[in-house]
This record gives sequence, C-alpha cells and structure tokens, in this order.
Amino acid sequence: MKDKNGYITMLHGAGGTVMHSLVKNYVVKYFGGLSNAEVPLDAMDDAAVVGDVVFKSDSHAVKPIFFPGGDIGRLAISGTVNDIAVLGAEPHALACGLVLEEGLAISDFERILESMLQTCVEVGVGIVTGDTKVVEKGSLGGCVMNLAGIGRRTMALENNLQVARQYKSDFAARWVLDSNLSVGDKIILSGTIGDHGLAVLSAQQGITFGSEIKSDVKPLNRVIQRLLGEVGGVVAMKDPTRGGLADALNEFSEKSKKGILIHEDKVPIRRDVQAACEMLGLDPFEVGNEGKIIVGVVAAKAEQVVKFLKDTDEGKDAEIIGEVTREFAGVAMQTSVGGKRIIARPIGDPVPRIC
Ligand code: MG
Repeated sequence: MKDKNGYITMLHGAGGTVMHSLVKNYVVKYFGGLSNAEVPLDAMDDAAVVGDVVFKSDSHAVKPIFFPGGDIGRLAISGTVNDIAVLGAEPHALACGLVLEEGLAISDFERILESMLQTCVEVGVGIVTGDTKVVEKGSLGGCVMNLAGIGRRTMALENNLQVARQYKSDFAARWVLDSNLSVGDKIILSGTIGDHGLAVLSAQQGITFGSEIKSDVKPLNRVIQRLLGEVGGVVAMKDPTRGGLADALNEFSEKSKKGILIHEDKVPIRRDVQAACEMLGLDPFEVGNEGKIIVGVVAAKAEQVVKFLKDTDEGKDAEIIGEVTREFAGVAMQTSVGGKRIIARPIGDPVPRIC
C-alpha cells in the first residue's frame, strides 16, 4: 500500500498492513538478502539469528512515558527481551540508546532508570553499552529509546525441540519460528488481551474506564525458558504487540502457509477492557499487548502447556484458543453465536504510540 501523499504517517508505525508494507517495500528492499543469517531480515520474525546468537533491536516511543502499570523504560526492556525470548533464546546482554528531550525532568529520568534496573533484575541481564543524545524541546514527549539485545541457545530450547520432534518426525527447525506451524498444532494464548493498549490510551486521553486498566508490560523470558525446559513441544511463539492478536495470528498463518481457526469464547479478555473497547469502537483483537505470548504447540502437549502456564503469574488466564487447520487459508474465528468470521490483518493498531 503506497501512501498517497508520499510521506510517513502515524499508520506506518502502527504494526498492521501499512507498517508491514513500509518495512517490506523499503527496508527489506534495500537490506534483505544481504546476509547469511540463519534467520535473516527477510524472515521478518521477532528477532534475527546470526551464528548461534539471537539479535534484536527495538525502538520505543510510547506516549506518555508514564502510564498505568508501567513506563517507557520497563516497556523498552520487556519489548526487546520478549522478542528474543519468543525464538527460544535466553537474553544475554542489552544495549540502550537514549534520546532525551530538552526539558525532561531529571527526577522523571531517574524514575525511568530505576524502573529499567528493576526490569533488568527480573530479566536477569544488564545493560552493557549504550549512548545518550539530547534534542531540542519539541514533540518527542520527554524521551525515546532504542534497546538492542543478544540472546543465546539454552538446554531448555534443545529439550523443547526434541519434544517437538517426538511428535513430528519431519520437524527440523533449530529455533521457535513463526513459520514452523503445521496442521493439527494447537494455539495457546497466555492471558487477557488489550490491557496495555487501553492503559496507554487512558493515559493519553486522561480518561478512566470505571476501574483502572493497567498495562500488562512484563519480561517473559523466565517463564518461556521454564516452559521450554519443563514441558516442550512449542514450535512457534509470538508476543502480540502492535496490531494485537489479529496481526500476530496472521503473521503465523502467512509464514507457515496454514489456516488458523480461533474460538471466540476461548479468548481471554477482561470485562472492563471489553466494555471500554465497545464504548470506544475498538476491536480488542487489534489492540497491542506487552506481557502476553501466543504459543503454537504440538497437539499432544497443549493441555500440559496450559496447565504449566496457569500455575504462573504471567499465564494464569491461559487458554487453548484454536488450532492450525488445512480447511482454509488465513485466520478465521468461530464466533460465540455459532458463525464464522475472517480475522483480517489490521491496517494498524487503533491506539497510536503504544510502544
Ligand atoms: Mg514481537
């Protein structure tokens, strides 16, 4: 989709079809096919694999920089760590590039750094290099930052792949990738959708929805490593950030070239988030999350994965929400009233600057 004005718009950063087109038609056009990476830029997965190292860079421009349940620093670390973790790797080191706006209060800066330190402790890695720039007072909203990180293979990942191979003799993947799904695999969602996007929206607009909706922003590397090591059989995994569940499922479907059927009554969603979405005319399937994972797993292990997740704080609302099918291409949903509808890839996340 070509922007009719020939300029970047907010939709180009909103995680849906418009952003995917921008990355594919411009960035990948120039830099795709240039490396011998095992998982290259062209794969457009959550992170790349170079040698045996998972490598990720992620910029964060959430507005405002503090929101219910989190802040830009916690978000930046969680976002980068989770993208490394969903390939099956354990984060090993982080780099942080800060762009601060003239006029940002030092007390706010320090509050962000404290939050980042706390998140680093949760992750179990540190920031080992970085850079600081300052720009004139303008529209930055206080600060933006880039977090890059590397991750390594673990015994938990090896165990996970071995379990998958017990059920799929032709399964040869070395990483947990979007393209690994095959017919019969189950799709599991680790918890409720829409919380992060709605929390940021409430902070942007200064509105409350009766009860305070908090962001789910959280690093998930520890729970993911335990899941891979203690259960296994996970073939594909994704954090449904910008563009939400709808975008992430379509990524799975396109890259694996398989259909995915979701059951509406199985998708966990908080009542207040559902009500707020209805009030604002938002589709919770398209709203971003920052502390959830979608897991594609061999069918024989699906119940065990859900049981494992339900025993954790991060996954207490986990459900099997669907399965991979040969009956159609793309993503469809069995609605609670008995019909079926297509879950299309969103044009972009309905809430701007959520990460
Ligand atoms: Mg991701």
